[in-house]
Amino acid sequence: RPPFDINRVKGDFPILKERVNGKSLVWLDNAATTQKPKLVIDRISEFYEHENSNIHRAAHELAARATDAFEGARKKVQRFLNAGSPNEIIFVRGTTEGINLVAQSWGDQNLNAGDEIILSHLEHHANIVPWQLLAEKKGFKIRVIPVDDDGQIRLDEYGKLLNSKTKLVSFTHVSNALGTVTPAQTIINMAHTAGAKVLLDGAQSVSHMRVDVQQLNPDFFVFSGHKIFGPTGIGAVYGKEELLNQMQPWQGGGNMIKDVTFEHTEFHKAPGRFEAGTGNIADAVGLGAAIDYVSRIGMELINQYEHALLLYGTHLLRQVPGLRLIGTAPDKASVMSFVLDGYTNDEVGQALNKEGIAVRTGHHCAQPILRRFGVESTVRPSLAFYNTCADVDALVAVLHKLRSAKRR
Ligand code: PMP
Repeated sequence: RPPFDINRVKGDFPILKERVNGKSLVWLDNAATTQKPKLVIDRISEFYEHENSNIHRAAHELAARATDAFEGARKKVQRFLNAGSPNEIIFVRGTTEGINLVAQSWGDQNLNAGDEIILSHLEHHANIVPWQLLAEKKGFKIRVIPVDDDGQIRLDEYGKLLNSKTKLVSFTHVSNALGTVTPAQTIINMAHTAGAKVLLDGAQSVSHMRVDVQQLNPDFFVFSGHKIFGPTGIGAVYGKEELLNQMQPWQGGGNMIKDVTFEHTEFHKAPGRFEAGTGNIADAVGLGAAIDYVSRIGMELINQYEHALLLYGTHLLRQVPGLRLIGTAPDKASVMSFVLDGYTNDEVGQALNKEGIAVRTGHHCAQPILRRFGVESTVRPSLAFYNTCADVDALVAVLHKLRSAKRR
């Protein structure tokens, strides 16, 4: 039983009333993107109807309203992550842009030939490719923490990779392909002991658990708004203020400067120095509304409920003959990746779609970790707090039907 009013929660999301192929939509593709509560949709409309202006630069009333709304959203992100100051929150397009910002700014300044950075085998392409692009230019080495057969980080191997050349450890909080929750606190503490900085990819964690950046203590934390019931095209980078102010801007333009001559430019401190040009003002405000929404329900309650639902789903999936779960770590969030004997993943996805059930099939932009398990792709249902046991039952019923069709 959910520890909050699940019918009310479901009612808050207009799209969940949608019908697909004559059936009620069952949205189990939350790891790809989450649906938006009415209040977020309304907040964006309200912005355009009553507050729209560019920010920070005019004397008129609407500029003040828009600036208040935008900076208010920054404070909401700050409080949500328990960052020490709103200056530590930079608005970006999403996780991908956030990691590219850190790579192009901090990475370009600090990583050189002879240095090493450490990633994990679980990483999304967004936390591999930006480092590869930079490594080709700068000549540093990328090392990879292996995982065990359940998809858990091998801490013993990680310890062996860390050395005085390690400048950065960049890893995911939750794997989008397997659902593994990584031992972030231990990984971060070990990195710091070795003198390395840490980037934590929170794309798959922020909507499922409470994140406290002062306690976890990563140097950078990045996430996408669209994965936490907010709009697409907006996300945030948390960075320690002192570190951010030592970093060169990665994009130049308006908004981020104190003074420009043709010879020289002086930049604002963070966050301004990393927000060149007109940003995604309305969607930042929408993200603030999404954060208010989940905070009112409470991340602890959400986590507790989803955990129970994940155990329920995993238990039922294990009873489907010929189904192989990929990713069996004891500590997981949201994701139940699998392959089904006798069917391609596309066929399973299509059969589910016929019943109105949305799941992702494919490589989930995490090819290295799927190959570690000998597959190129999986079927990936993923949960959010508006899902129910009935949603999981509907999923499992289709899988049983597919299997018995094969036996006949
Ligand atoms: N990292 C992880 C772990 C992810 O799951 C995703 C999104 N699938 C990303 C990074 C990239 O996020 P975005 O596409 O929103 O930039």
